[in-house]
Amino acid sequence: MKLYNTLTKCKEEFVPVEEGKVGIYVCGPTVYNYIHIGNARPMVVFDTVRRYFEYKGYDVNYVSNFTDVDDKIIKKAIEEGVDASEISERFIKECKKDMAGLNVKEATTHPKATEEIDGMIDMIEQLIEKGYAYEKNGTVYFRTRKFEGYGKLSKKNLDDMQAGIRIAVSDEKEDSMDFVLWKPKKEGEPSWPSPWGDGRPGWHIECSVMSKKYIGNTIDIHAGGEDLVFPHHENEIAQSEACNGEEFAKYWMHNAFLNIDNKKMSKSAGNFFTVRDISEKYPLQVIRFFMLSAHYRSPLNFSDTLVEASKNGLDRILTCVDTLKGLEAAAAEGPMNEAEEANVAQVKELVAKYEAAMEDDFNTADAIAAIFELVKLANVTAKEASKAYVSYVKETIEKLCDILGVVTEKEEELLDSDIEALIEERQQARKAKNFARADEIRNELLEKGIILEDTRAGVKWKRA
Ligand code: AMP
Ligand code: ZN
Repeated sequence: MKLYNTLTKCKEEFVPVEEGKVGIYVCGPTVYNYIHIGNARPMVVFDTVRRYFEYKGYDVNYVSNFTDVDDKIIKKAIEEGVDASEISERFIKECKKDMAGLNVKEATTHPKATEEIDGMIDMIEQLIEKGYAYEKNGTVYFRTRKFEGYGKLSKKNLDDMQAGIRIAVSDEKEDSMDFVLWKPKKEGEPSWPSPWGDGRPGWHIECSVMSKKYIGNTIDIHAGGEDLVFPHHENEIAQSEACNGEEFAKYWMHNAFLNIDNKKMSKSAGNFFTVRDISEKYPLQVIRFFMLSAHYRSPLNFSDTLVEASKNGLDRILTCVDTLKGLEAAAAEGPMNEAEEANVAQVKELVAKYEAAMEDDFNTADAIAAIFELVKLANVTAKEASKAYVSYVKETIEKLCDILGVVTEKEEELLDSDIEALIEERQQARKAKNFARADEIRNELLEKGIILEDTRAGVKWKRA
C-alpha cells in the first residue's frame, strides 16, 4: 500500500510500526460551533483510510481529539454568559451527530484536552528538565532552536521564518520562534493548577500528549488538513521528539482544502456552510460521496452543480443494488453457468482495479470509477441470471461501497398514494375521536419528511 508522506514528499510503501496494526491520529475540531463542511473533509477522508485498513485486516487504533479549551470557546462562553465547558460539551454532541450523518465511525478514542491536563503538565516538566523549555512569569515556552529537526515537515528554515517576523517580540521569549506550552490564567477563564501557577495548556501540546497516551511514542499515521502542517504539526514533532527521543510519526497525511464556488470559505464573504446547513439540502450520504469523488490531496470545489452530479452518480449505484435485490429474491436457486463464471472473472478484475486505486495513495476518485464500471456490468449481466451470480455481484458492490462508508440501502420513499391513504386513515381516526392514532399517523409521516397542514379546505401535505 502506497501513501504520500508530507514529511518526505514522496509516495511510500506503508510499513507499520507493529505488524498487523496501525495507529492513526487525526487532529480533531475545536468545538465552539457546529462543524463546517471544510471540517468534514478530513473526517470523511481519514475515516475512509481507516475503513480500507480494516478491510485489509489491520487492527486499527484510530484516535481523534476534541480541542475543548481554546480562545474561541472562551469567547463564545462569555458572550452567552455560560461556562466554557457548556459550550464545548454542546458542540461535541452536535459534532457527533454530524459525524453519524456522514457515516464517520466513532474513533477508538476521542480524547478531550480538558481531561488530559495532567499528562500535558507531565510532558512540559520533562521538556523543561531536558532543556527544551523554560518558564517566564507563569508562561512556559518551547525553545525552538534547541530542537535540531525544526522545519523538517513544512520544509521551512528557522532563519527565513525569523526574517519574516515584523512584529516586535515580547521580551519574555528568548527567541521570537519560541512557542507557548503553558499560559497563565486570565480572569474569568478556565484554569488548572500547575508547577508554574494556575493556567491552561497551549494548543500544540495536547496532540503530542494524547497521541503518546493512546497510541505510543511512534504513531504510524498522523493526519489533518494541510493548514495544520505549520505551525501545529511542526510544533507537535518538536515537542514529542524532544521529549521521547524517538521518531514521532512515520507517515504524515494532509488533505487539501474544500472551497465554495472556487473561493476560500469565509464567514465574512458569506460563503460559509455548516454541515447542519447542508444537511437540510442534501442527504449527508451524498456529501460524503461527493467528498470522495476527488483525490484527498486535490482542492475540492463545492458547488450545487457538482453536488447534484454526485447525487445522480450515487443514485445510479443505489438503484443498481436495489434492482439486484429484487432479482436476487426472484431468481431460481442454482449454480452459475459458464457465461456467469466468465462475468465473475470480470467482476474480480474490477475489484482489483478498485484496490489498486485505493492502494495508490487512496485514490478514491478512481476507486469510485471502478464501482461505476461494476454497476454497468451488473446492469447488463444480472437480468435472468442465477441467484448465485446476482448475490455475488450485489455483495461485491455493497462491500466496495461500505469501504467508502457509503450505505447502499435506498431510503424508502413514500408514494403519493401511500401518503393519501394514511391521511384518509387519520381523518377516519379523528372522526372516531381516536386522537392517539391520528397523532401517531401525523408523526409517522413527519418522520418520513411529510408535513401535514390542516386547512379549511381539508388536509394539505408537502414533502419537507
Ligand atoms: P479546526 O477546528 O479549524 O482546527 O479544523 C479541524 C480540521 O478541519 C483540521 O484538520 C483542519 O485542517 C480542517 N479544515 C478546516 N477548514 C478546512 C477546509 N476548508 N477544507 C478542508 N479541511 C479543513
Ligand atoms: Zn493536533
